[in-house]
Amino acid sequence: MTFIQRRTLLAAAAGVAAAPFAASPAFAAVPKVYIDPGHGGTDPGASANGLTEKHLTLAIALQTRDFLLARGNVAVRMSRTSDITRSLTWRTDDANAWGATIFVSIHINAGGGTGFESYRYPGTGATTQRLHSNVHSRVLSGMRTIAAVTDRGQKTANFHVLRETAMPAVLTENLFVDRVADANLLKRADFITATARGHANGIALFLGI
Ligand SMILES: [Zn+2]
Repeated sequence: MTFIQRRTLLAAAAGVAAAPFAASPAFAAVPKVYIDPGHGGTDPGASANGLTEKHLTLAIALQTRDFLLARGNVAVRMSRTSDITRSLTWRTDDANAWGATIFVSIHINAGGGTGFESYRYPGTGATTQRLHSNVHSRVLSGMRTIAAVTDRGQKTANFHVLRETAMPAVLTENLFVDRVADANLLKRADFITATARGHANGIALFLGI
């Protein structure tokens, strides 16, 4: 056969070989969810109205983990499960070394706004965009089971934990500690639980678990 014919046959064979992979589930049998409660230890994050970000992020993250584990068929690892200091590099190195399927970082906003917003890294592909969309919509609907919450939108930003993670990653900013109406919601146990359930539902939707 000619070189051209041989090239064509090889390409066809490669196409046949690739098809089963394209049709198979996108994720390992037991997906690995890395949950990153923002701040902790010597880094309190934002503080206002008697609230401190590091405590809120941990409370939401721990309940998100528990909701996910209750569903089963998922592994969960956290950057911290108590009030300890973790550098940003430690968090992303740990997630990468574990081989996380997805990375979800949980934060509380400050600076005078109100409502919920979330972030992915600029220029990320369709998979990360779908994770972002799934988590954003479910967190918002979870919060709205408790109260009206402003949707500040799905945004992109060059954050360390989004840039240095080797898997689809999203970061949520769950209301503003320095807005009294938002802070009053963040003080409610049912709102924290609804926010955590929203994170778990969005993650589960993305993973198909
Ligand atoms: Zn933060």
